[in-house]
Amino acid sequence: MIPEYNLKSKIDNCPVCNSNKLKILVGYEKNHLVRCKKCTFVFSNCKPTHKELDKVYNSYIRDDNKRTELTLKKMHLIVDNIIKKTNAKRVLDIGCGDGAF
Ligand SMILES: [Zn+2]
Repeated sequence: MIPEYNLKSKIDNCPVCNSNKLKILVGYEKNHLVRCKKCTFVFSNCKPTHKELDKVYNSYIRDDNKRTELTLKKMHLIVDNIIKKTNAKRVLDIGCGDGAF
């Protein structure tokens, strides 16, 4: 279960353009989602505390054992293709996954 976020750690400026002109996203108030009026970036303006993050990640169970060999090969193939096409030296995976690659 995800703990309630501490409202004292509210984010007042857009992390992309630093504007403080934010509009609450109607229907997503519970998730604290706001849209930056300047660059339209949507984000949660409620930052969890270190204590809250510890609580979430200490109870997080990885599902490494559920990945098949084929899935791992596909994941590596995707990363290899990204590196090959972009000549990147590093790849940052941004998303909801567990950072498997
Ligand atoms: Zn912005």
